Amino acid sequence: MCGIIGYIGKENPKNILIEGLKNLEYRGYDSAGIALKNENDIQIIKSVGKISNLEEKISSEKIIEANIGIAHTRWATHGEANEINAHPHQVGRVTLVHNGIIENADDLRKKLVKEGTTFKSQTDTEVACALINHYYKDDITTAITQALTEIKGSYAFGIVVENNPNLYAVRKDSQLIIGINDKELFIASDISAIINYTNKYILLEENEIATLTKEKYIITKDGKEIKKEIEETKMNAEAKDKCGYEHYMLKEIMEEPRVLEETLKPYLNNSELLPDLSTYEEIHIVACGSAMYAGMIGKTLLEEKANLKCYIECASEYRYKKIIYDRKTLVILISQSGETADTIAAMKKAKENNIDTLAIVNVKTSTIAREADKQLFIEAGPEIAVATTKAYILQVAVLALLSYKAAFSKKLIQEFDIEKELKALPKQLNSILEQQETYKALAKKIYNENNIFFIGRKIDYSICLEGSLKLKEVSYIHSEAYQAGELKHGTISLINDMTPVIAVVTDEEVKEKTISNIEEVKSRGAFMIVISTEEYKNCHENIVVPKINDFFQPILVVPVLQLLAYEVAKLRDCDIDKPKNLAKSVTVE
Ligand code: GLU
Repeated sequence: MCGIIGYIGKENPKNILIEGLKNLEYRGYDSAGIALKNENDIQIIKSVGKISNLEEKISSEKIIEANIGIAHTRWATHGEANEINAHPHQVGRVTLVHNGIIENADDLRKKLVKEGTTFKSQTDTEVACALINHYYKDDITTAITQALTEIKGSYAFGIVVENNPNLYAVRKDSQLIIGINDKELFIASDISAIINYTNKYILLEENEIATLTKEKYIITKDGKEIKKEIEETKMNAEAKDKCGYEHYMLKEIMEEPRVLEETLKPYLNNSELLPDLSTYEEIHIVACGSAMYAGMIGKTLLEEKANLKCYIECASEYRYKKIIYDRKTLVILISQSGETADTIAAMKKAKENNIDTLAIVNVKTSTIAREADKQLFIEAGPEIAVATTKAYILQVAVLALLSYKAAFSKKLIQEFDIEKELKALPKQLNSILEQQETYKALAKKIYNENNIFFIGRKIDYSICLEGSLKLKEVSYIHSEAYQAGELKHGTISLINDMTPVIAVVTDEEVKEKTISNIEEVKSRGAFMIVISTEEYKNCHENIVVPKINDFFQPILVVPVLQLLAYEVAKLRDCDIDKPKNLAKSVTVE
């Protein structure tokens, strides 16, 4: 998780690093730190909490003249979020920041303690730092290479060394890029950290060591220099502006119609661009969090509409589970960032078993985008709010398209004829988003509750899972989603007088069944909110969305739940864009 930024050039990098950390803060925000360096000195400043705390602390200290710096925003994995455990860590002559997990840190720590090292923090990071220092005699890249042969786990390191004028970087299973412009060089977890200075960068591959001097960069692997391509991103600094919205989450929800149009455009009358899933006997959809819930919608559509056998599994289970690949199988990996550690591991597992992989990702340069056999990109642009909204909607849209194509290939649909419907979809979505006042009024009725339940059947249940997750992520209200028929097998005991229950009713086939379940909870006192495609009077609140083609129906329902979660969180005064304990791209397992 965490964000790393480093600088080498002519300027004092203090402000550049702070600004970069703010752009990376969505990746982790329990503590932060900075190391500034000149020829003789290294100054380290750390603080607990948000980057603004670090900024305040820095402004009260005397800052050294410097032209090199590394900085870090942490999402703790080893050791609590306090100042000692915050990065950068320093052992002997080596100072570093780290993203990832050193899995054999305990063993390495024991070995280093025996040899005389004393540790200040509880982190795995300090162990890596100590190991590099342990091997450092006169050449730091040799020491890094030696240490890496002993380190197990994932890492992106930014390293500075006493009496050495350079900045070093190396990575494995955690993203790190080198940013380039005419005057200076950067290292960063992603381009958003340095977009105000450059849009040119190099992707560092596993265990390549980058040596950045004031004038140039050298990339080596196993001691040999490697030529690298310079990439260019189209992202610009404005893409990361809040554009007048109070929160990124709201801005990103409001962007949904536009990004939906952009994502769908290439496929409107060109179904050839879509991979044909009907040639597979079995589909596995593997993802985490909201991406997995988007995948659940895809699974329902592939099964119900295209008669394709489809399994869904969260990536952290899939990677360790016994999977029997005995049919022609496709593994679909869904990840906004394309850097989700568990999803990367699931992809590797599929590839090791010679199984085809298809990635649905937002970040085109990400590990999953680069390493999967095929890619379908969503055009969400940068998503800054930690709770995903627009990227989720686009994942659902792409899965709906894939299911439609598979149904067409299997002749379950006679004509590939959705151009008109897809063209109308962004406008319909816009009309849903325009009803913010309705969601605000509804939020006022439920925001003080301790428990909120969601019920639905089949595809409506998958929608409920995302609605419930969004609500708990941003508002901290305890919430659970249930298959409507399952509630009475236990959880109904939690329904008290006026406990809010939100039912989603769009699936025609099971509509009557869900309505019976609504009656069951209502008669036990629930405050019943129904989101449906037809008017339903027998409840406390009813939000009606237009009925559209089944494949795309969830795209008109989930935004209602996203905006409801947003309004509830706002009334509860929550930190909407950076909910506690979360980080956006989960790059540790
Ligand atoms: N494992 C390291 C720690 O706990 C790094 C975590 C991160 O990636 O932020 O400090």
